Amino acid sequence: MKTPQTYPCTRCEGKGRLPHYANVLGGVCFKCGGTGRQKTRPAAPSRRWSVNAIRTTDHHDCVVFHVRAKTEREALNKAFAALSRAREQIYDPTTIRVTPWPDSIEKALGFSIEQRVHTGIATTNP
Ligand SMILES: [Zn+2]
Repeated sequence: MKTPQTYPCTRCEGKGRLPHYANVLGGVCFKCGGTGRQKTRPAAPSRRWSVNAIRTTDHHDCVVFHVRAKTEREALNKAFAALSRAREQIYDPTTIRVTPWPDSIEKALGFSIEQRVHTGIATTNP
């Protein structure tokens, strides 16, 4: 019989321990019980994508906002849905382009830019 396939635990990255929880039961990872392995295949990690679109007013190609998605297709779908919901069509939804946003930039900035939307999509009337 074949040993069932296991994957490195996503929470402790296969170490079986979480150093920042060392004060709780010696830092043993609850997810894998300290084995460092999990039976379920880890989900593809979601990452940040920057969404570009052509602004209808001046035809500039702008970064409109950022979305979190696992795949380029998912990012495109989310971006399209968000732009389609916009009260005013400032950006042409047919020109949407997504590019992977390096998380390193956000780490360097030290804050999340996710909510720093500058389109009018996120702004609501007072
Ligand atoms: Zn673990």
